[in-house]
Amino acid sequence: MSGATSFEQNHADARAHLARFATAPVGHLIGGVAVPSSSGETFTNHSPIDGAVLGTVAAGDRDDVHAAASCASTAFAAWNGIGGTGRRQVLHDLADLIEQRAQQIAVVESMDTGQPIRFMSTAALRGAENFRYFADMAPDVANGRSLPTAELVNYTTRRAIGPVGVITPWNTPFMLSTWKIAPALAAGCTVVHKPAEWSPLTASLLGELALEAGVPPGVLNVVHGFGHTAGRSLTEHPSIRAIAFVGESVTGSAIQAQAAPTLKRLHFELGGKNPVIVFADADLERALDAAVFMIFSLNGERCTSSSRLLVQSSIRVEFEDRLAARVRALRVGHPLDPATEIGPLIHPVHRDKVRGYVNGAVADGARVVVGGGDLVDATSNYVNPVVVLDASRTMAIARDEVFGPVLTVLPFDDEADAVALANDTEYGLAGYVWTSDSGRAHRVARDLDVGMVWVNSHNVRHLPTPFGGMKRSGIGRDGGDWSFDFYTETKNVAVAYGAHQIPRLGAV
Ligand code: NAD
Repeated sequence: MSGATSFEQNHADARAHLARFATAPVGHLIGGVAVPSSSGETFTNHSPIDGAVLGTVAAGDRDDVHAAASCASTAFAAWNGIGGTGRRQVLHDLADLIEQRAQQIAVVESMDTGQPIRFMSTAALRGAENFRYFADMAPDVANGRSLPTAELVNYTTRRAIGPVGVITPWNTPFMLSTWKIAPALAAGCTVVHKPAEWSPLTASLLGELALEAGVPPGVLNVVHGFGHTAGRSLTEHPSIRAIAFVGESVTGSAIQAQAAPTLKRLHFELGGKNPVIVFADADLERALDAAVFMIFSLNGERCTSSSRLLVQSSIRVEFEDRLAARVRALRVGHPLDPATEIGPLIHPVHRDKVRGYVNGAVADGARVVVGGGDLVDATSNYVNPVVVLDASRTMAIARDEVFGPVLTVLPFDDEADAVALANDTEYGLAGYVWTSDSGRAHRVARDLDVGMVWVNSHNVRHLPTPFGGMKRSGIGRDGGDWSFDFYTETKNVAVAYGAHQIPRLGAV
């Protein structure tokens, strides 16, 4: 898991690859050309590590989105027209390029997001894997089903829905965007991507690599800017047929309203407050490994993080002690250091939100046994990993998505209590169950109100499986053919075998 290169080498690579972003403003990518905003507006991009200015970035608005949507509309017929086999080759070429530039992508991503290099190295390669997986499926996207009756043969076909908008968050921006962009392009759609304003850089790299790989100009466009301007315009644009959105639940609600007048298809991957349920009969050492990994990897800025640790009362004290020892030993540091396990949070606003939740938990009467007060530096974005004990089920720390390195422990008595507690949230993304009783594992998995359950495992993503959430965690599923259902229209064709009876209204 740890980065293959040294701290010094990562620094040297980061300096080399960030230099261009410091010397010239980052433009939009519209119709294959890097362009400034039509208004000339830019915003400043800061590194989460020390606040240093990484450069300026074009701040798009309605006109830039319109230009990108027009290019995506124009490019659609030809890209769709080359067929799945043609797209398969181009997308494999793009995956090759991503693999070749994985170190560049990883160091830029680390500097732009604060995410440790040990995770960003693999995230860049996961992006390539996503393109390969959907590239291989591209030739079969149009395939449908045969549904014959005695009198008619029905068959279904699928075709790309058209130009789509992809709006992504800042936590693991490169890898996350490929979950959406890879299947969209494989299906034959063209894309306008609006990346998050707090981590814009790797979206531009992906757009450039796509052009270099032979993705025609206009097929993948990037418009930078803020949610309320560029993002909003994209969701409202009449040529954009669908929006694939990853972000906060409250933003999903706003997008649903914004997209209503143009009746867009929507796919939402939203927030989570995911339970990891540890029964007394579990392999406690492995459960500990997984619980710590799922909340403290990616700085806890992870939609599927195990932010609520539900522990059976009979093992609670022992498990909490072992947990606290492990969390105290986590290595907080510079994200380019391969030894670092936790880096700085993305932005001062987000840091304050996370610290606010921890302070609020203490004010509410919970106990912080690790982290909390001993912040690395009050002015930086670093937040030491936090374990919160003795929280009640109604406290904000036990219910809200904190999206940082903060783990709240809640005890439960028995299986029914565990399920009730796990489901007592507005979210329903993922759940993790630890038990050696296979019947119980299946029962709990069945009863959890979540889109994904892992039993005796951390989150291991298998691309053919569906990814997504229930309740306020999302609408729709990614992965396998579920992705193509979103990016295509299904058509049914019914053909009569012969002269079946047709009602003869008006006949004499
Ligand atoms: P966010 O909702 O603030 O922003 C996400 C994107 O939406 C950004 O690009 C932003 O500019 C844009 N946006 C904001 N307002 C908009 C509007 N009115 N119209 C159109 N676009 C708008 O989310 P964030 O803070 O960047 O990301 C963190 C959130 O993402 C967390 O809640 C996390 O759980 C969620 N997330 C979910 C998944 C998943 O798969 N379920 C994965 C990663 C992150």
